[in-house]
Amino acid sequence: MKLPVYMDNHATTRMDPRVFDAMKPYFTEIFGNSASRNHSFGWEAEEATEKSRKQIAELIGATPKEIVFTSGATESNNLALKGIAEMYAERGNHIITQVIEHKAVLDTCKRLEKEGVRVTYLPVRQDGLIDLDQLRDAITDKTILISIMYANNEIGVVQPVKEIAKIAKEKGVLFHSDAVQAIGKIPVNVAGDGIDVMSLTAHKLYGPKGVGALYVRRRNPRVQITAQMDGGGHERGMRSGTLNVPGIVGLGAACEIARQEMPEESKRLQFLRDKLKNRLTSELDEVYINGSMEHRLPHNLNISFAYVEGESLLMGINDIAVSSGSACTSATLEPSYVLKALGAGDDLAHSSIRFGIGRFNTEEEVDYVANKVIDVVKKLRELSPLYEMAKEGVDLSKVVWAAH
Ligand SMILES: *Cc1c(COP(=O)(O)O)cnc(C)c1O
Repeated sequence: MKLPVYMDNHATTRMDPRVFDAMKPYFTEIFGNSASRNHSFGWEAEEATEKSRKQIAELIGATPKEIVFTSGATESNNLALKGIAEMYAERGNHIITQVIEHKAVLDTCKRLEKEGVRVTYLPVRQDGLIDLDQLRDAITDKTILISIMYANNEIGVVQPVKEIAKIAKEKGVLFHSDAVQAIGKIPVNVAGDGIDVMSLTAHKLYGPKGVGALYVRRRNPRVQITAQMDGGGHERGMRSGTLNVPGIVGLGAACEIARQEMPEESKRLQFLRDKLKNRLTSELDEVYINGSMEHRLPHNLNISFAYVEGESLLMGINDIAVSSGSACTSATLEPSYVLKALGAGDDLAHSSIRFGIGRFNTEEEVDYVANKVIDVVKKLRELSPLYEMAKEGVDLSKVVWAAH
């Protein structure tokens, strides 16, 4: 086994070598511009991008013409929200989303608010799911769009997408879903699920970084989107710019592999995830799983370790690549807004770890991670007076602390 162990597959995934092989010829041999209509270089490039469109469509139950290529899900989310807000401005100016969306949705909404769009941010329950009655109540005759992610990138919680789509349809409101984390991990089908617009990205799916797509429904209803970039009118006028042919080939190949291997792969990942979960929860006390275990991606585990300091924990397991609920990148060391939205206190949010198990993780690695985390948490707790006191039955909430 090689160290460090990569177990941060919600942040990005290693490219599958088969995807890389599919991409290779499109850098130096088949290098044409897919918009060149007058020669075989262009035709070959176009053939490759159309094949990819088909592969993506097949994975998500769409038709190839409904796929718009982008630079990734951040762009797809921007294009969906801004493009719909602009196109449907005459019909209404209200968007409904939720507090635990990815920043690519939340920050886009903030921008739209500055431009006069009204945004409702639905709270989530302690299990991380939205309340469908609250969603229904939030809809007004000015509502044009509901944007709720398929599965969350921190806690892996899967939202009731079909029910959301049903409510949206009843009220004549469009439904966009950021499905980045769900695609290739659980069955996602825009027809069966009733999704109108959907964002995806290759690099969370063992494909290359910097390429993604937006699914835009063409029938029932036909969704229209105002382009956010002006140029050559590529992608049926919705997204100008010469297509990233090798990247698009990679996205298509990644989708094809996912379609064929997802049923077995997800079972394997869930087995590994459950093994990790069972060991951590049985060999340690005072650990808390964040978010619903029932409505959850098979490869996600997000867990808080009480009475240990998040920083020390991460330092102790520094040969394991994972994410924590502490956003250490910010100067203020803000705890995760997702965990806070579930009602977690700052301490438990700071001492949380997100494990994202992926295609290239082995059972040996999972065992190593379990051993290491258990060992480090136990050692840190031996040094923790708070843990001692809690074990002795002291009610810590009643302790009056002296000022430092
Ligand atoms: C990673 C991620 C994104 C951003 O995708 P990029 O392709 O990196 O721009 C958006 N939404 C979710 C849920 C993600 O996990």
